[in-house]
Amino acid sequence: MRTNAVPLWHLRGRPASVVSLAELTGGDEMAVDGMDTRAAVALLARLLTATPVDAATLAASDRDALLAALHRQCWGDRIASTITCRACGAPFDLSFELSAVQRHLVSAAPVWLTYGGVLTHPDGRSLIVPDATDEIASVEPGVPGAVERLAASAGATANAIADAAAALEAAAPIVDLELDATCPECGCSQGAHFDLQSFVLQRLLNERDTLFADVHLLATAYGWSLAEILALPRQARRSFVDIASGTHPAPAVDRAARRP
Ligand SMILES: [Zn+2]
Repeated sequence: MRTNAVPLWHLRGRPASVVSLAELTGGDEMAVDGMDTRAAVALLARLLTATPVDAATLAASDRDALLAALHRQCWGDRIASTITCRACGAPFDLSFELSAVQRHLVSAAPVWLTYGGVLTHPDGRSLIVPDATDEIASVEPGVPGAVERLAASAGATANAIADAAAALEAAAPIVDLELDATCPECGCSQGAHFDLQSFVLQRLLNERDTLFADVHLLATAYGWSLAEILALPRQARRSFVDIASGTHPAPAVDRAARRP
């Protein structure tokens, strides 16, 4: 099943568009090889095949909208992670609704108008929203002037980078949060950083052993090839695994209903 329609607000040179992601396959999961912007772009490129959108031209806020949709497709809307208390070392759970965070970020949206990847303020200021290519260039080692190019692409001189960053945070927000967490064991209050992009990619990397186990089980049970299993949509693969492992038996066929 594809994801629900996801609006993209900052496509360079284009009006806002609504797209959906193809359902993740094992091949897509296997191809994830990192947690950075480059890895996120590579994954989204595999899932945006039914749209004319080039993943490398996506702004960070649009990528997060797609990664949020992907999280819902794979695991639902609730983000759950375990934190280790800095004071007593006890692990405790931190969870929240992804959609609630997204609504909060949007409701904080400001006076900047967005069109074609350009933000325009009523006072006449404007800036270009950096896309993935800009971001990757800005952190690539040995690329001269990359940071300056990113600043320039955001329409800012070096001294105005902070202003541009604030405008981007308001008008093209990303799910990159500093959360307040309180340890239930010792009551210690502490901050916890949450970044959706690395969280989703890390979660897929963490499932690699489960994916190998799925492949082994299905190959053994049905005799399917590696390519056939990795081409299965994720939910179908998981359902076959449940049936083959006996945790979710196939429903009995209602023979009476089939009789003419
Ligand atoms: Zn504690």
